[in-house]
Parts: sequence; structure tokens; C-alpha cells
Amino acid sequence: ARAFSGKRYCVLGLARSGMAVAETLLASGADVTVWDRRSEPREALAGIARIADPLEIDLLGFDAIILSPGVPLNTHPLTEKAKAAGVPIIGDIELFALARPELPPHKVVGITGTNGKSTTTALVHHLLSSVGVAARMGGNIGLPILAEEPLPEGGVYVLELSSYQIDLTRSLACDLAALINITPDHLDRYDGFASYAFAKGRLFTMQGAENFAVFGCADAPTKAVQQAEAARRAPGRAVCIDAGKWAEYQSDWPSLQGPHNLQNVAIAAAMMEDMGFGREQILTGLASFPGLPHRMERVTVRDGVLYINDSKATNPASTSPALAAFPPEEGRKRIHWICGGLAKEDNLDDCVPYFGNIAGAYTIGEAGAMFADILEPHMPVERSELLAQAVNQARKRAAAGDVIMLSPACASFDQFRDFEVRGDTFRELVAALCCGGDREA
Ligand code: ADP
Repeated sequence: ARAFSGKRYCVLGLARSGMAVAETLLASGADVTVWDRRSEPREALAGIARIADPLEIDLLGFDAIILSPGVPLNTHPLTEKAKAAGVPIIGDIELFALARPELPPHKVVGITGTNGKSTTTALVHHLLSSVGVAARMGGNIGLPILAEEPLPEGGVYVLELSSYQIDLTRSLACDLAALINITPDHLDRYDGFASYAFAKGRLFTMQGAENFAVFGCADAPTKAVQQAEAARRAPGRAVCIDAGKWAEYQSDWPSLQGPHNLQNVAIAAAMMEDMGFGREQILTGLASFPGLPHRMERVTVRDGVLYINDSKATNPASTSPALAAFPPEEGRKRIHWICGGLAKEDNLDDCVPYFGNIAGAYTIGEAGAMFADILEPHMPVERSELLAQAVNQARKRAAAGDVIMLSPACASFDQFRDFEVRGDTFRELVAALCCGGDREA
């Protein structure tokens, strides 16, 4: 992009997005310096200067430092130095924003929130594709946005934006933006809840008064951001997605189970409506949404038992809607809940309202004992410790009509590389149930 030509940038971190950034900047005629923790770059980049220590760098003369969202801004020693030198620290989304005037006419949809970002992003992308609009996912999901060919005229970029990515962005005026919810998470990277909420709110202050914004509004911090935005916008351009909107699109969507997904559906639908699409088109797209792996993913039905992989639920707040999704049928509790891992909180308070839906719990990992202590007064509990053990024990106790669900309410790192490996392992264990007989843990 011409926007970068003749400018000087320092790229910190050469993972996937850093690599794409360095290559794009170089191809656009920028002067690029890079730093990576490993001394040898993954691929040699011709024409790029390397530095050994980012703290040694003389920041004078740089137009910006480009940081990967994996690096926490609040603790990075370079942050203070850059502030003092007046050099902005930005991310690849900001570079994308700067290059937008050179792209064919297009729209940008930005989606943030504590939970539901990936689902809502994938859903908007799918709904657009299903009505024939050229769309691409970027940000926290999909390919590095700068690595791709631009979309043709009329295309829509659908960006999933974490608060860290928003922190590294200053001039992205999304045509449409959504805030699904704000609940305590990732607080280690912010000085408290207020500054985390403020970070998310910045996605909206970057928009113009005519741009469209939708808000989940089910929690007070989200509602507060909506009210501030409504006050400065044109009428009807900063709206709450309330139960009325949920009802309009309520149905038994196969890949969008549970009330939390209805919120995601209503938010996606409101944005599609604002882009000019009709209810019928949206309903058709919703019916064909394939869903995302590891998020309330229907693995299989075996002997009448439904297996659900919700490995992505890494805190009690995101597990609670999964438990809400399967209420008792004819008075019979149906959920066999596999939970535990590396706890982010020392309680399960968010899940308490749905304890009445649970037929039994199977606790695993480091948090297993703590969860078992909390749950035992309310339901039968097996201290399974290992996922394989939990699947076996749940299988033995579940009857036709029941649901065996991995929704851990915990991070995975005590027993698995990441939540994807945890979910894949669950899938493999379930697949093995059919043919291998009992698998001993
Ligand atoms: P993110 O990308 O924000 O982490 P995902 O769409 O991957 O969000 O969903 C993560 C977890 O959060 C899922 O396990 C799901 O159960 C839960 N979740 C999804 N949407 C919502 C919502 N609107 N409100 C609360 N929890 C949600």
C-alpha cells in the first residue's frame, strides 16, 4: 500500500501476523526493522534489518512500532520508552485501517466482547457469503488480514477483535461494530475491570456518528458503553439487542444451541439488516451455519446420547450458557458435565443457576478437587482426574436422551497444549467408544 511507502517501521515478533506485516511493509516500499525472540528468523527476509534487543533500539525516526497482540502492552518495557519518544505502538489491524483508502470500496465489521466473538464473527461471515457477498474473516480469527489479496468492490471484512488488538488500533472506523458482553477475564493484562471495559469501548469511539453499533446490553458495563455511544450518535445508530430482537430470530438452530448463541444470532442479524438484507435471507443463512469446532460442537449421537465438545469454554461465565442449553426433560436431568483443568477463578458461581440441569459431574485436572468439593453437595460427582476416565464414567451413567458435555470452565494448559488439543482429544475418545470397547485411562 502507498500509505506505507517511505515510512520506517519496527516489527516486534515474527510469528504469523508479524511475518505478514513485515512482508507487506517491505513490498510497499517501507524501511523495515525486525526483532524476534529467536535469533534466527524462521524465514530469511531480504532487505530487512534485524536488531538484537528491542530495548537498545533508538526509536527516533521510526513512524511506528508494530507489536503482535500476543505481547502484553501494559508490562512491556518498550511501552514506556516509546511513549517518551512519541512513537506510536500499533498492530496489524491499524496498518489495515491506514491502507483502507486504497482498497476497492468495501465495508468493515468489527466484533468484540469477552465471549462469543469467534462465533459471531464466523456467523456474520457465513451470512454474508450465503447472500453472495465477498467476505473475509480477519483479526483474531482466520488469516492475517494484511497477507491477503484485497476483496473486490462491495466486499466486507469481518474482524474479530480482542481488547489487545483494539489497544493497538487508533484509526479503525468500523462501518458496523458489535460489543457482545463484558465480563471479568484477562484482567491480568489490565489495571482492573474499568480499564478492560474502556479498552473494549474504544472500538466504538473510533467510529463516526453515522456508523452502526450494536450492543449485547445484558450486562451493566456493556449497557454503559451503549448509552455513552447513543448520546453522541445519529438516532438509531447505537442500539441494544434485547429480548425482542432475540425473539425475532429464535429457533432451534442446529449449530447455535443455547440462549448465549441466540444473543450472537440477534447481534449478527441486526448487522445484516443494517447492511440491507432481509429477514428471509438471514433465516436461510442461519439454517446452514456449520458452527465452529470446540464451541458447543455436536460431536455425535451414540446410543441416544448426544456428545458435545465445548472445550473453548475456559471460564465459568462461558460454561454457564452451555449448562443452560439442556434443561431437564419430563423432570429428568440430562447433562453429564465434564469440567476442570487450570482454573481461572476459585468458584463456579456463574454456573450455580444451572446446577439443576446436571445429572452428574466428572471433574478433571488441577481444578478437579476444588470443583468436586463445590459440586458434591448438589449432584453426583466422579473425581475422574483424566479426560479419558471422565468420558468412560459418563458413558456408563448416561442414558438415551442424555448429553455428555465437555465444557471445562478452565484453561487447558495443565493437561493439554491448548483448548483445541483438549477438544480434539475428547472427539477421539468419543470416536473410540464405538469400536475399541472400554478404554482404560
Ligand atoms: P470468543 O471468541 O470471544 O472466545 P467463542 O465464540 O469462541 O468466543 O465462544 C467462547 C465460549 O463462550 C463458548 O464456549 C460459549 O459457550 C461461550 N459464549 C459464546 N457466546 C456467548 C455469549 N453471547 N455470552 C456468553 N457466553 C458465550
